[in-house]
Amino acid sequence: MPFTPRPVPGETVASYLTRLADANHMKPADLAEYIWPGLVRFLRRHDDFGLGRNPLPTAALERLATFSGRSLNALGRALPTLSITGGNGVSGRAAAACRSCLAHRAVSHQVLQHRPSHQHVCLRHGRWLDDEGQTQLFPVPEVIHAQRRLLRLARHRTSAQLHYAELSAREVLRRWHRINRYPELGVRWHRRADSLGEDQPDPDRSRALFYLVVHPEAVTLASMFASPYWQPLCRAVSLDGNPPPETPQLRDELQRRFSL
Ligand SMILES: [Zn+2]
Repeated sequence: MPFTPRPVPGETVASYLTRLADANHMKPADLAEYIWPGLVRFLRRHDDFGLGRNPLPTAALERLATFSGRSLNALGRALPTLSITGGNGVSGRAAAACRSCLAHRAVSHQVLQHRPSHQHVCLRHGRWLDDEGQTQLFPVPEVIHAQRRLLRLARHRTSAQLHYAELSAREVLRRWHRINRYPELGVRWHRRADSLGEDQPDPDRSRALFYLVVHPEAVTLASMFASPYWQPLCRAVSLDGNPPPETPQLRDELQRRFSL
């Protein structure tokens, strides 16, 4: 093909095919049809979920290599769904790539890439990555520091442990927000939103903004959830009713960790 854009590391096959087709003024469905008649139905789900479970046949891979002007090895390195482990090579979810990283690569098209569920921030550009939008974090450096802590925690936990710990932490923070459990935290969250030029964070109005402003506390709480010592107590907090039961020991620990 006359124009062969470079795949972005971690990009989904659907995202790359769409860019390859657009660069050559083709419909993505037509290009998919040329490569493999069954491929078009996977284009609708841009996360490659279906493709991960039904790897492309070799003939289709070779056609994709020919159309893209790249070796199978190069494609496999950039597009996790095509790696030798097939769908097992894909972890996490597919989400929009950092716009600043794309601009650096002179990519103007939107790109979806696989990344671990705990990767909320592009540390190179200080950008919060969310499906609802991307926010510059320089006014709230504590959110960037929290992401570094989360990455350190990720080195010692499985992705499933970390995912569960984060989900639970966010659930607890939403509940605390609803009942104003710790007014000092509410003030912090409000101040961060203010620094970003946003209104008061409200998870019912914008979940993305809420998760951004509570990220430092979410990481602190997730590290407790993920620790063998606190896990049973924290699990009781997250799964119990409203308001959460807190033992004096747990309350002391929360106040210490959150500097309340
Ligand atoms: Zn970036």
